[in-house]
Amino acid sequence: CKNQFEKNLAFYNESIGEQVSNEIAIANEMQTALDEKQFVVYLQPKFTVATDSICGAEALVRWKHPQKGLISPGVFVPVFEKNGFIAKLDYYVWERTCQLLRKWLDDGRKPYPVSVNISRISLYNPNLVKLLKDLVEKYNLCAGLLQLEVTESAYMSNTELMEKTIHDLRGSGFTILMDDFGSGYSSLNTLKSIEVDILKIDMKFLSADGEMEKGEIILASIIRMANWLGMSVTVEGVESRKQRDFLEGVGCDSIQGYYYSRPVPEGEYEETYIYADGG
Ligand code: C2E
Ligand code: CA
Ligand code: CA
Ligand code: CA
Repeated sequence: CKNQFEKNLAFYNESIGEQVSNEIAIANEMQTALDEKQFVVYLQPKFTVATDSICGAEALVRWKHPQKGLISPGVFVPVFEKNGFIAKLDYYVWERTCQLLRKWLDDGRKPYPVSVNISRISLYNPNLVKLLKDLVEKYNLCAGLLQLEVTESAYMSNTELMEKTIHDLRGSGFTILMDDFGSGYSSLNTLKSIEVDILKIDMKFLSADGEMEKGEIILASIIRMANWLGMSVTVEGVESRKQRDFLEGVGCDSIQGYYYSRPVPEGEYEETYIYADGG
């Protein structure tokens, strides 16, 4: 018995050690990775439910590591959030997104809006509004094309500053999406004070407890409430026809999920949705 305990302990220590060294490796490589353009943007289209037609996309970062291959943001974003590097990576993704939008416009294409993630650290940057305004100006874009996703939990501390930042961003023409709505503690309360345009709700979160019926009632109620408050709703993580049909029935505006498409590389997104009709 004691032996097993010691074995477990050894295993535990080893995996903690591995995790730490992995984090150190990630931290050591990140600036080089940025300089060498190893971070790439994938785009996941969003669809209007009623018409099954594309209405936008979300920019999601991946790390094309020269040895380790494609690394998902779930691995490195939490590390970058801890050490602050996420602010640089955020900006890199925003700028790449602006470059793409500019290119599509220059080619006479219809550029559906693209949303980008604003990490908590970026949101607390007192210069954020100016940074984003300067960026869209640099690429001569209307601010409405670059939508901003702010995760619900970022609102939790320093609410007053957040309210002002969001207010100023909206005043400058940006559309604000509240990401991961319903997965934190403060959802309903924040809606009272913060102006957002679009709620993003995670479908996985609702079905996680296995109580489909309860989850569906809650989801339907959130959608009705959002519409009442003048917000539209995007549901994420939709994988099946059944889920899509349910969401259509309860008045969900748009869907982002594997049912329609996985996140795809820039080039594939362009070919499929921007340059699809050839000329
Ligand atoms: P998120 O912002 O909530 O992004 C949605 C995630 O759900 C993406 O994971 C997407 O690939 C995944 N997803 C979409 N549809 C489905 C589906 O039908 N089923 C399932 N199972 N998953 C689906 P991804 O790309 O791995 O990103 C994970 C998280 O990493 C993001 O969650 C976001 O918090 C963060 N992230 C990604 N890119 C960036 C970035 O540029 N900046 C920052 N700050 N965070 C980012
Ligand atoms: Ca997001
Ligand atoms: Ca989300
Ligand atoms: Ca459900």
